[in-house]
This record gives sequence, structure tokens and C-alpha cells, in this order.
Amino acid sequence: MFSALPDLPEDAILRLMALYRDDPRPAKLDLGVGVYRDADGRTPVMGAIKAAEQRLCDTQDTKSYVGLLGAPDFAAAITSLVLGDDMAARTACAATPGGTGALHLAAELVAMAAPGAAVWLPDPTWPNHAGILAHCGRSVRHYRHAAPDGRFDAKGMAEDLRAAAPGDVVLLHGCCHNPTGIDPDADEWAALAAGLAERGLLPLVDLAYLGFGAGLAADAAPLRVLAAHCPEMLIAVSCSKTFGVYRDRVGALLAVAPQPATRERTAAALAHLNRLNFSFPPDHGARAVTLVLEDDGLRVQWHDELEAMRRRIAGLRAALAAGLRQAAQTDQFDGIAAQRGMFSRLGLKPEHIRELRDRHAVYLVGDGRINIAGLTDDVIPTLCRQVADVLHR
Ligand code: PMP
Repeated sequence: MFSALPDLPEDAILRLMALYRDDPRPAKLDLGVGVYRDADGRTPVMGAIKAAEQRLCDTQDTKSYVGLLGAPDFAAAITSLVLGDDMAARTACAATPGGTGALHLAAELVAMAAPGAAVWLPDPTWPNHAGILAHCGRSVRHYRHAAPDGRFDAKGMAEDLRAAAPGDVVLLHGCCHNPTGIDPDADEWAALAAGLAERGLLPLVDLAYLGFGAGLAADAAPLRVLAAHCPEMLIAVSCSKTFGVYRDRVGALLAVAPQPATRERTAAALAHLNRLNFSFPPDHGARAVTLVLEDDGLRVQWHDELEAMRRRIAGLRAALAAGLRQAAQTDQFDGIAAQRGMFSRLGLKPEHIRELRDRHAVYLVGDGRINIAGLTDDVIPTLCRQVADVLHR
């Protein structure tokens, strides 16, 4: 039976990771990986999370099942972090295995509620979006996200969404767009939210980098703008980066549904879908996150740690943009300083990306995406020379 399985497309990032691992050159540089790294190249456990896990270990007296939607206090803490306290009563929430689990659940919920609805994705976007939606049988369309000048393409997006039908779903990156680092500004978010509401389109926000852009409050602000305009929306929250709990698989799908009867119906559907997929969502990481959010001291510690990560990335962005301007004698990389989150695209041609790998052992994904957090202050001057070398040769 198994020999009949089809050939499956290789995951570009996982393939790159394997090539990097097998490269014997000592000065190799991995800019492909999708996790935060500190100045020592480590992806550390946050101190606040470690303390919460310790507390959990000392006090937890059962590992019995929780509920199909996860622990209610996790739901309350995440909803209030993302949307504010007043929205908790208007939102159904299901804990999921990471942000990927939340996106998968969102796709299944849309399939159940609106089987004919198309899901519109930004072009470009995180490749797994299209994969998950196609796997769940959704029809996928694309809208323009980034203009050639490296800014958010509000006009292109609005033009493309003219072909959307009322009830279609529009996926948005809440902040720190992956892979471009290009986000709408506050005015553009307000216009976008009004446009979606007017057209009867449902926002599905992928929130995987909360706190990595302009800070917690500023990164959450667009979600509140969307919630104020659109009667219903979905938010796929990933705690992987924001709390550094990648492998513990912590996420949630929030469904804003102000009508109590509709909200109950939605919660029942989410519980039913979780039941079919895996029954109970993972609890350990969610509980550690809840402890951090509910304890004043741990919350301050976590916020400080998150801010340190955000500031480190912003500093690296400024240094990289300045270094590339000087080394390559072009302003084509200036946008990197203003872009947000872990990722930006260098806008290099495939042959440049290949040469960076072959000649200089610098690994980036085929679309030229780099993980800024994979850099350190020491390697930036060398990297800038190497980019200039492949550009000008
Ligand atoms: N959305 C985006 C845009 C991402 O970059 C990621 C992680 N790379 C995810 C969702 C999923 O994160 P996870 O499942 O690890 O929580």
C-alpha cells in the first residue's frame, strides 16, 4: 500500500537546514532557520517560562485530561493579551498545537461554515498557508502585498480583493509579515479594516510574531481595529516565538462572534473539530504561558525578555541596512531598517542566492528571505561584503 504514496514536495526550509548541517566550512552562516537566536546563536528558554515550568512541576498534582478547547484560563489570558479584556466575553477560543494547529483549525471551521468561501492569501506569504488550506480543500486566491518600492501595496491589495465575494476569507499577517517584514501602517490598517467590513469579507489573522514588531501594545493594535470594524473574525495565535515555546506547541484559534448564540455554536464546532483531530490540545506549554500572563512578576520578566529580543532584531536591522548600503553602494536594501520582525527579503536573484551559498557558505531560502535574528554584530560586515561580491561580480 505504502509504495502507492505520491512524491511530495520537499519543504524548502527543511532542505536548506540539512544542506547547512552537512556543510563542513567553519564560517558558515544560517539565515534560513525560522527561530529567534540570541547574540550567541542560541534559542534560549525564556527565564519567565522556565520559572513558570518550575512552579508547574512543583504544584501540578494531576495530568488528567483538560477540556476539548483547552484550559479556560489559557483562553482568557490569550484573548485578553491579543484583544483586550473587554473582548473576552465576545470571543470563542480553542487551544491548538501551535499556530499551525490554529490555522488548520481555522481552515476546517471555514470548510464547515462556508464551504464555498475562497481564502485570499497575501503574495508572498508563509508557504504553509497555501499548503494547509489546499489540504483542507479550500479554494485559495492571492492578493498583492508588497509593492515594488518595498512598501505595503494597499492599492494592489484593494484592486485584487475586488474579485472577492462577500463571505470570502482574507488572511492577514497581524504583524511582522513573513517573509517580507512589510506591514501596513496604522492608517492603512484602519482603511483595510473598513474595506473588509464594507465588503463583508472575514479577516483571518495569522499572529505568529506578537511583540517582535513595534512592541506588544502596538503589534496588537491592528487586531483591535479589525475587531471594531468587522462583526466576526478569526485569529490564529502562535505562542512559539512570543514565549519561545516552539517545541511545546502552544497556540489558539480565537473566533470573535459577538452574538451569544453564534459564539456558542462556534465554540461547539471548535471543540468538535479538536475532538476529531486530536481530542485534547497540548496543555503543558499553554499552562506555563498562562502562569506567566497571570503572575505580575513573571509577566514583567517575560515582557522585558521579549523587548530585549525585539530591540536586538531592530539593532541588527539598522546595522545590516547601513552595512549593505556602504558595501554594495546601493540604496536597494534601505527598507530592511524599517521592516519588522525576524524576516526580510534581500531581493536577490536565484543565482546570487546560490553563489552566496556556494562561495561564502551563507544559507538563505530560495526567495531571498533572511532571518535577521540569525545575524550577530560580528558577522554583519562580512555578510555585507559577501552580498556586494555576488552582486557585483
Ligand atoms: N504563521 C507564520 C507566519 C509563521 O512564520 C509560523 C512559524 N514559522 C507559524 C504561523 C506557525 O508557528 P507554530 O506552528 O510553530 O506555532
